[in-house]
Amino acid sequence: MTESTELNWNAIADETIRLLQGLIRLDTSNPPGNEMLAARHIANILRDNGIEPVVIETAPNRGNVIARLKGDGSAQPLLLYAHTDVVPVEPAHWTVDPFGGLLRDGYVHGRGALDMKGILAMQLAVFLTLARQMRAGSLPLRRDVILAATADEESDANQGIGILVEQHPDLLRAEYALSEFGGYSLHLAGKRFYPIQTAEKGNVWMRLRATGRPGHASVPHYDNAVLHLARAVDRLARLKLPMRMTDTARAFLAGLADGIGGAQAIGLRALLSAGGRMGSALIDHAVRDAGMAAELRAITHNTVTPTGLRAGVKVNVIPTAAEATLDCRTLPGVSQADLARELQDALGEEAGRLSFEVDSAAPGLEFKIDTPLFRLISDTLRQHDPEGIPVPFMLTGGTDAKHVARLGAICYGFSPMKFGPGERFSELVHGHDERVAVASLAWGVRVLHDVVSEFCRSATNRE
Ligand SMILES: [Zn+2]
Repeated sequence: MTESTELNWNAIADETIRLLQGLIRLDTSNPPGNEMLAARHIANILRDNGIEPVVIETAPNRGNVIARLKGDGSAQPLLLYAHTDVVPVEPAHWTVDPFGGLLRDGYVHGRGALDMKGILAMQLAVFLTLARQMRAGSLPLRRDVILAATADEESDANQGIGILVEQHPDLLRAEYALSEFGGYSLHLAGKRFYPIQTAEKGNVWMRLRATGRPGHASVPHYDNAVLHLARAVDRLARLKLPMRMTDTARAFLAGLADGIGGAQAIGLRALLSAGGRMGSALIDHAVRDAGMAAELRAITHNTVTPTGLRAGVKVNVIPTAAEATLDCRTLPGVSQADLARELQDALGEEAGRLSFEVDSAAPGLEFKIDTPLFRLISDTLRQHDPEGIPVPFMLTGGTDAKHVARLGAICYGFSPMKFGPGERFSELVHGHDERVAVASLAWGVRVLHDVVSEFCRSATNRE
């Protein structure tokens, strides 16, 4: 860490905070997005620092910005990517201006402070720091470092990295890529873990349609679409799909067991050796924390969540059809057809009256854990937090990694932050009064810098 100790980390932390405040003050709520505000803003900052970016407007006001620090080409690039859009706010529930970028009581407040303008600010600060180090001659790179700040992640990235991957792949192609989520501390059983995202679940958003015989409601019969649908939804909710272990889930459980130790570790190890329906039942017995059990179930099972119901035209009419919307999440390696088979089996004889229609789907992703970058991330986290325990981790939601992976990159969710025992990243993201601790940013930007500079610096400059 010689390199890192020579830098003025207080100044870099201040710069990160200023960058974040500037980003929060641009209202990029999606819809409608207006990410061109952020693209222009970031492009100006890059130009002020002697870096010429590429700005791409994929649709009116939907802006993306990409910049590159050139290495000597002896290794393939590393991509740092972040989305500039944020989810909308309900201002009445906020105690501060969500677009004010207020710095108070050690926190930067505002929409996107965590998801993910705070992370983008760290990436940008690291990028600018590397550029200064290169100019000073202290950091020749063997790989290019690419920074991409893109639009439209909070919907489906049709105007963001999805379209850039299709139309400008050469601007983004990299061997490795880092973005949200992961690398932030998670307190469990008195220990501090750092989950690093190496996998994410896929989604299948579909409509389940039941049909029956229409008629006058004054003469009831049982071939009623509403009843068929209600029974099917109830059955899906009770569904016990089999447990499936992926490499990431296995490594996550093993890491938790080693870190936690004691009686809970025995339960977690039992989970590892069990499988199928036996494993599912074990989760409830082996894991005391209800939130943790739900999380473990989600990363070891395909899941189905009914999220909407629609039926009926009038109170006295038995309708011909009734529909439910289902949010299904699939494990990496599970196809849409595999999921359909599991659901058909579960619905049994009801299946004949039911049909599924898929509205949108994305496959799950899983990346190799045994890589030099993963090892470097783990080592660097341990250097900066000797009590911290890095573990691979599967996100149950989805990120832009699904697009970046199409270019062949190994994508990790790594955006280091340090939270207090009472703070859970997942509870603060998208919430009211979203905020990030200054101390967390100051720590994270240093960890991220050390990973990126060590991974990309040329061998001739190593100790
Ligand atoms: Zn995000």
